[in-house]
Amino acid sequence: MKKQILVIGSGVAGLTSALRLQHDGYTVTLYEQRDHVGGKMGQIKGNGYTFDLGPTIVMMPHIYKEVLAYTGVNPDDYIQFTPLDPMYRITFQDGETIDATTDLEKMTYDFEQRTPGTAQGFLSYLNDTYTKYQVAKDHFIEKSFRKRTDFYNPKTLWNALKLKTFDSAHHTLSKYIKDEKIQKMLSFQTLYIGISPKKGPSIYTIIPMIETLYGVHYAKGGMYAYAQALERRFKELGGKIVLNTRVDEVLFDNQVAKGIRIKDQIIEADAVVVNADFPHAMNNLIKDPKVKGKYTEEKINNMAYSCSVFLMYIGLKKKVPSLKVHNLYFGGDFDQNLDEIFSGTLPHDPAYYIYSPSQIDETVAPLGHEAIYVLVPVPELKTATFTWTDEIKENYKQKIFAKMKQLEGLEDMEEHIDFYTTMTPPDFEADLSAQFGATFGLAPTLGQSNYFRPKNVHPYAKKLYFAGSSVHPGAGVPIAITSGKLVHSEVKKDV
Ligand SMILES: Cc1cc2nc3c(=O)[nH]c(=O)nc-3n(C[C@H](O)[C@H](O)[C@H](O)COP(=O)(O)OP(=O)(O)OC[C@H]3O[C@@H](n4cnc5c(N)ncnc54)[C@H](O)[C@@H]3O)c2cc1C
Repeated sequence: MKKQILVIGSGVAGLTSALRLQHDGYTVTLYEQRDHVGGKMGQIKGNGYTFDLGPTIVMMPHIYKEVLAYTGVNPDDYIQFTPLDPMYRITFQDGETIDATTDLEKMTYDFEQRTPGTAQGFLSYLNDTYTKYQVAKDHFIEKSFRKRTDFYNPKTLWNALKLKTFDSAHHTLSKYIKDEKIQKMLSFQTLYIGISPKKGPSIYTIIPMIETLYGVHYAKGGMYAYAQALERRFKELGGKIVLNTRVDEVLFDNQVAKGIRIKDQIIEADAVVVNADFPHAMNNLIKDPKVKGKYTEEKINNMAYSCSVFLMYIGLKKKVPSLKVHNLYFGGDFDQNLDEIFSGTLPHDPAYYIYSPSQIDETVAPLGHEAIYVLVPVPELKTATFTWTDEIKENYKQKIFAKMKQLEGLEDMEEHIDFYTTMTPPDFEADLSAQFGATFGLAPTLGQSNYFRPKNVHPYAKKLYFAGSSVHPGAGVPIAITSGKLVHSEVKKDV
């Protein structure tokens, strides 16, 4: 008889592990508390507009495609990616803009024009970072740390040293590039995974290098199209998805996972994969102290969390051709902005990001309209020194609107809004069970990375696996996909 696997949560890591396992002959059932799959890669629809809930920037599309290809189909029949050029536009407080492009010659020339000498620093940065990327990929990201000796062995420790990761991303970059605006342009990306470039380990300088190498792509229909592609393939292979169903507990017999409980219904299985946010799962789904191990509620609550975001999804009854698909706007003092986010204050002059897929995709907004998604990094709920009351939400919306109205084509935006909704940190906590509303999960500090991050194979129980942003290797869609892939291979070793 086929082995039964239960997956809790349909985030991208849950879908990836479920699909791979179903393909390999297991009977997989996936439980999701929401009414659609994807988790943070969800979708918001209203008044003819379609918005991606969370992720928008597709990096390394080959990683996305590989999951589908593994199941024997042509990924292009399920999802279409288009490279974007420019990848994104950055606008500084003084109005200066720089377009990030994969055209290396142009990028290098533009940097050199701004500040002579930058070309050499930029090329050296790419060269050195590429080496680190290879080491990180081969020895840390694509490897599951099951036991102590998987990490504490001469080869891995030597490779860890090669990553020179003790410095911060921003400081590392400043050794290559002196121009402050370019420094910002090549270091803000740590915010993609919810950490400050001033504090986040230097390894995350690989993000802009990866963008330059592989480009930034757009998935037709939006990022949610990828969750739908995985869902479609999973169902084609006979996988079962149960929506609108919250799992209440993972059940154990003598520290061996035996199934799950949904209200008073018990469902048995040969293994359980948890894609729900690891800290949330530990505090809520795992009741047995022996299985919690060191992850007591106190320990979980004291761990370091990534920042959160304030999101506005705006349907606009007009076109704004001055926008690119991805647009980043810096406020006045980026250092202060970062300090505020990570010390619990609502930033008073924040950097923000606008995503406008309707620039190139007619399926996401009515003809002649724009779908505009606005993201502002804000503190997660543990650090926040304020509460998200309706008044705070409205005031913050007005603050960001005031900034947006200074942009070309958006001066009269308020007269053209015919759809508006938001997601705040408490919404991420309530709707997606993200602990403290930390949108990118546990922070990837050194003490919470690689061997030290919660593991794909739970150390305190058999047949219990974790896939998702808060476990190894970490947050971001390609990395969460990798987490699902690692879980798939670990389950196959045991079950
Ligand atoms: C606003 C935002 C912007 C982002 N931008 C990007 C980007 O541009 N590019 C990029 O690569 N990454 C981006 N990310 C990060 C990326 O979206 C995440 O790292 C990734 O989607 C997380 O996937 P996951 O598998 O960890 O699960 P999640 O998406 O967290 O899904 C977990 C699922 O488990 C379900 N669940 C929880 N508990 C239970 C339960 N008890 N029973 C049943 N179901 C349960 C939840 O409802 C949820 O659906 C962004 C994230 C956010 C929030």
